[in-house]
Amino acid sequence: MVQEQLIPGGITHPAVLYAMNTVPRHLFVEEGLWPQAYGDFPLPIGEGQTISQPYIVALMTQLLQLKGHERVLEIGTGCGYQSAVLASLCKQLYTVERIKTLLARARKNFDKLRIYNILSRADDGTHGWPEHAPFDAIIVTASGPRIPQPLVDQLADPGVLVIPVGDRDNQVLTVVRKDKGRVTTQAVESVRFVKLVGSHGWTPR
Ligand code: SAH
Repeated sequence: MVQEQLIPGGITHPAVLYAMNTVPRHLFVEEGLWPQAYGDFPLPIGEGQTISQPYIVALMTQLLQLKGHERVLEIGTGCGYQSAVLASLCKQLYTVERIKTLLARARKNFDKLRIYNILSRADDGTHGWPEHAPFDAIIVTASGPRIPQPLVDQLADPGVLVIPVGDRDNQVLTVVRKDKGRVTTQAVESVRFVKLVGSHGWTPR
């Protein structure tokens, strides 16, 4: 996975490659999918949701430029795979998932892998997690029609937010940076994510 997908795809950050090499991706999907777990594609995790392809997980992580001391907020825990990668690269991860059954499964995965620096909660993550703000980095693993303002507000200065934004079919991975009071956005590449559903995302239907 690292040699054939991530390095050729431009993932260069050594700590990110190390994390992608060590977090056992197969343990986050059901056993029937283990043979496909390291393939270059997303995988179903139940409840109509998917775990992103390895390259996208690595790219989003690399864009956060983590050094190890950060407090990071993740919106969209899913099966907890991206969370496990992040937790190995930062000090404390806060993660929010709106579907309770997925969160329960993610928590089991964290216990199984003995990951202790993750605090998780079932909620609409488009509100962020104000009690623990500000965050040095924020990652959203579902795509909304716009950047949720509470997440920009809860970003530290300096801070970086990575989020896919767009319509239902086409989205752009976007990096929002806060620095010396200024907020800038940069489009990185076209992506396709499951929907961010919530007050500052898509309305459920
Ligand atoms: N990072 C996850 C990806 C899961 S897919 C992984 O590694 O498995 C995106 C997740 O975002 C889904 O589980 C979906 O339920 C969740 N989600 C969508 N809208 C949300 C919201 N407003 N708040 C929290 N989670 C949300």
